[in-house]
Amino acid sequence: MNSVSNSRVTIVGSGRSGLAAATLVCHQGGTAFVTDSNQISGGTRKALDEVGAAYESGEHTERALEADLIVISPGVPSDAPLIVKAANAGLPIVSEIELGSWFCPAPIVAITGSNGKTTTTTLTAHMIAASGRKTWSAGNIGTAFCGIVESIRESDAVVLEVSSFQLDHIHTFRPTVGVLLNITPDHLNRYANSFEKYRRSKLRLFENQKEGDAAIVNTDDEAAATSTRIIRSDVALFETSLDREVERGGFLRDDELILRIDQKEEQLMHRQDVSLMGRHNLYNTLAAAVAARIMEVRSDVIRESMATFQGVPHRLEFVREVDGVRYFNDSKATNVNAAWYALESFSERIVLIAGGRDKGNDYDPLRGLVRRKVRGLVAIGEGADKIVAELGPETGTAVKSASLAEAVQTARLIAKPGDIVLLSPACASFDQFENYEDRGDTFKRIVAEL
Ligand code: ADP
Repeated sequence: MNSVSNSRVTIVGSGRSGLAAATLVCHQGGTAFVTDSNQISGGTRKALDEVGAAYESGEHTERALEADLIVISPGVPSDAPLIVKAANAGLPIVSEIELGSWFCPAPIVAITGSNGKTTTTTLTAHMIAASGRKTWSAGNIGTAFCGIVESIRESDAVVLEVSSFQLDHIHTFRPTVGVLLNITPDHLNRYANSFEKYRRSKLRLFENQKEGDAAIVNTDDEAAATSTRIIRSDVALFETSLDREVERGGFLRDDELILRIDQKEEQLMHRQDVSLMGRHNLYNTLAAAVAARIMEVRSDVIRESMATFQGVPHRLEFVREVDGVRYFNDSKATNVNAAWYALESFSERIVLIAGGRDKGNDYDPLRGLVRRKVRGLVAIGEGADKIVAELGPETGTAVKSASLAEAVQTARLIAKPGDIVLLSPACASFDQFENYEDRGDTFKRIVAEL
């Protein structure tokens, strides 16, 4: 389709990306109709009125299906009744990044993975911007792609954080550079509890790539590595690895990060000089460096960015030191894999605060690290009993706390000077908080008041 002028477009979902999609459709000469089964906020109604989009809320009526195109917001599941009806009626259904990509004149670096997307997107954009090129970052990261796409010029660069939900409904979306960081279990509730379905969704990142495009894959990650098969042979494959030297891409040799692009090696820096802490961040940094290099950023600019990048809030964020104990906020660790990397990042003893809404988690992978590093475990939220039952036996002290405030006080009592108190929940936040930012901000406030 790739055009919306004179088309009737129904946008399902009135969140940030729905509003941006409706606005873009109106600007591009289409007719936008927004439908949301929940209420549409006053601010959004006003914005929709201003651009001339119609809307309905609280239900989906038949009007929603009187369309030439359906745009689905990432929060709306593919099996929602309206979407199933639209599919049965043969209507094209696209995600918001697909729609945005139709109007984007600049090359796109698209980054996906189960963990590390926001960090890598921000760092990649930071590197490209440091080279003097106008750089936009958008997608899952918070700014809707459709909301910026009309301001992008051909000479700019775009770095998009892409979730599997966005990839579920692409048709022609084609990143110049596609980055796959890892594939570990997450959001399986949206994929009929099938890891395979979730994996296939992530791989769609590469499906429209063509000759001259590049794919960057972390081949230390088993599920990602086995996926390189699907990348077309005329697309340049770059690997990232901390375990072995790769033919083309980025790797570690004697603790030095090295790029090997066009059969030429460039030494970047010693792993200890990378500003972000933790092994997972070496993966993120390597992926960003390779992507930036492909986007023709010079390696001295990449080096400078790697050494100075300050990270993103709520991802292993240092908060404060109190009585010789350092407090870290890793509220964005909403799955087990992310919490694993957080524990792995410290050589100190850790008092771990974990828990929240359990998404059918398997805590087994954490056992070894908890046994070796965790002095005490304080569990919160709906998942607290399960966490104490499964990980408690691996550590000296394991207790439940009714609130995050109580958990911090308990952690303070358990911690000894030199220790780390780490909030890395391994669970979603929605049982006690609005979102992970709210949980992380609450933690930081409590710690500030100690
Ligand atoms: P995403 O946008 O994919 O959720 P973030 O950069 O926001 O990724 O990080 C989410 C959580 O995962 C944080 O707790 C962070 O410390 C952890 N993390 C970041 N990068 C990785 C990685 N490459 N592998 C595993 N965990 C990671």
